[in-house]
Amino acid sequence: VSESAAKLPSKILELMDGFRASKALFVACKLKIFDHLKDKGPLKAVDIANEIGTSVCGTERLLDACAALGLLEKTSQGYRNTDSANTYLTSDGEYSLHGYIIHSNDHVWPLFTNLESAVKEGSRQNHRAFGRKAEDLFKDYYHSWEVKQRFMAAMHSIAHLTARDVATAFDLSQFKSACDLGGCTGALAHELVQIYPNLKVTVFDLPEVIANISYFQPSGQCTAPVTFVSGDFFKDNLPEADLYILSRVLHDWSDEKIHVLLSKISAVCKPGNALLLAEIVLDEQKTHPPRAVLQSLSMTEGKQRSGSEYKQLLEKYGFTNVEIKITGNLLDALLCFKKNLSS
Ligand code: SAM
Repeated sequence: VSESAAKLPSKILELMDGFRASKALFVACKLKIFDHLKDKGPLKAVDIANEIGTSVCGTERLLDACAALGLLEKTSQGYRNTDSANTYLTSDGEYSLHGYIIHSNDHVWPLFTNLESAVKEGSRQNHRAFGRKAEDLFKDYYHSWEVKQRFMAAMHSIAHLTARDVATAFDLSQFKSACDLGGCTGALAHELVQIYPNLKVTVFDLPEVIANISYFQPSGQCTAPVTFVSGDFFKDNLPEADLYILSRVLHDWSDEKIHVLLSKISAVCKPGNALLLAEIVLDEQKTHPPRAVLQSLSMTEGKQRSGSEYKQLLEKYGFTNVEIKITGNLLDALLCFKKNLSS
């Protein structure tokens, strides 16, 4: 390496190209290139292009880009999935991120294209990205079946990938019943009942979501310990449970809405019972992990919090003994207990 090359700001150069790499990944997933290559020997660009109905020259460039990014292997016989592409990038891979990648392409990308306006105006850019003002974040996701399906698939892929680490972050074997508020497809619920056979889990979510869960249920398993209840956690009575769960819920909402939700949970949670949160916990400087800090740029009405901020928030609503587990996975976990009235 020459002296001038050694001085190049490699981090900055990598960030300059980051958006190209992201988009290449998104488009390869959208065109189902990794699905077409799954369980097949190496395929030539022309064969893949014919199968997916794209131009040969464009497909070859995209396949080369995927090989350059380490997503495909390129040999003299053609292109082949890496192990990681088989696991994470095919739409039916065990820990498929396909759903989240499609959501990133179709929803997050247009929002980030308007980041400059978002920063100038301090608001979410739905109107610029999609021609519609964002009212409630979820009403926006559930206005059409396609968008709802895409959002649920995105939530499912991350929840499935993180569920084991969230479920085992603390020993939850003392609880007989749990209620996962905003539990969406039930990915965490299913993992919990596998790990804690005596636990029954109720997934509570909006009616639009509950009407659409069948697509995401594990096949060939007895799903009896998981039940689904529809309702609005800001307005309706919450199911009774020993353990309440909020996974990736608090960071979406304003302090006023969090006040409504945590007051309700605190009111139904009996002393000694518990609340489990799954969120990305920021460090005290609130610059790490970058993933959480970058997520904030979508400008929902909520915010990401540090460990001490979560602790303070939970204590305000009568929860105590807050424990935080940084899992090393995409979500961390916090467990706290409802205070006894006497303590
Ligand atoms: N807990 C899931 C996870 O971690 O993958 C899903 C997280 S997603 C960001 C938030 C969930 O809260 C969605 O499933 C959404 O439908 C649900 N939700 C939003 N508003 C709600 C409300 N008012 N009542 C009940 N559920 C709600």
